[in-house]
Amino acid sequence: MTPESLARAVARDRRPAPAEADAASRYVRLWVEPEAIGADRVPAFVLILHTRGCYWADQKGCSMCGYAKDTLGRSATPAELASQLTRALGHYRGEPYVKIYTSGSFLDDREVDPESRAGVVRAFAGSARRLLFETLPEFATDANVAPLREAFRGELEVALGLESTDPVVLAKYVHKNAPPSEYLAAGDRLRALGVRAKAYLLLKPPYLSESESVDDVVRSIGEASGHFDALSVNPVHIQNGTVVEWLYRRGRYRPPWLWSVVEALRNGAPVRGAARLVSFPTAGGLPRGPHNCGRCDARVLAALEAASLDQSFGALDALDCACRTTWSAARDLEPLGVEA
Ligand code: SF4
Ligand SMILES: [Zn+2]
Repeated sequence: MTPESLARAVARDRRPAPAEADAASRYVRLWVEPEAIGADRVPAFVLILHTRGCYWADQKGCSMCGYAKDTLGRSATPAELASQLTRALGHYRGEPYVKIYTSGSFLDDREVDPESRAGVVRAFAGSARRLLFETLPEFATDANVAPLREAFRGELEVALGLESTDPVVLAKYVHKNAPPSEYLAAGDRLRALGVRAKAYLLLKPPYLSESESVDDVVRSIGEASGHFDALSVNPVHIQNGTVVEWLYRRGRYRPPWLWSVVEALRNGAPVRGAARLVSFPTAGGLPRGPHNCGRCDARVLAALEAASLDQSFGALDALDCACRTTWSAARDLEPLGVEA
């Protein structure tokens, strides 16, 4: 099977059947997590809305993305979105940072219609200092963003899944539908509109070795830093119904080591310019997430979180464990096709 046909077959298999009204009136999940606004550590309220999800996931999708499982298989109506929001607001305690996810693009009308978008943003106006949502670059337009800026008095932040500034990595390994140049241009456009721009960078897409992926992230940090206010290094975790999972089940993919995340931040910090550089690995320390030997994982994750929140990367140099040698040997042997 070619990577192309594999990606399309996986996308076909994960598509959910159209949801009933009851499911569509409930959000997917919410939680509160540590964050920072400038030097202030603050709690962030995170809400995943139930929507039709990313249109690109239906056609081919990105090799590591299994968010389609959290979608409705059809568009949510404005009334269903309003019901999700009302339920979520019952849990909101005035957290200063609010993150709204849709398993796709908040600015795509097929996921969240313009009226509902303004309603979501307005619901947090006056209480949240910063509100973040995600989108693909083609929807990051003045027409879509301007009404939201009017509806929200605080700071809007828009996150884009740039993943890599290398066009080959992005097209052939990550399977994005737009080249890096469109993501960089969207970052510039958003900042010109007075909105913070954030980019996700993917650590270890399939078909890249561990050391190649660290190099790719560090180079991407340097090339993207002038276009974004914040850069988040996101190491791959194995999600259901993805190309990465297909390879993992056949022993052809290992999630990245946490040492690689450490190295990406250490080497990326000097080239990040004025951008914040952060990494909060999902599923860190778990077998299907970025992990080390199991004994040092919690300590390394805590150090990554502290470095990200405080923008102070010096303490990462002092981290150590016996498994660091194994990681180093694995990286050296990987290009030779030898398992350490
Ligand atoms: S990573 Fe983003 S663009 Fe890619 S399939 Fe998932 S939601 Fe869509
Ligand atoms: Zn260890």
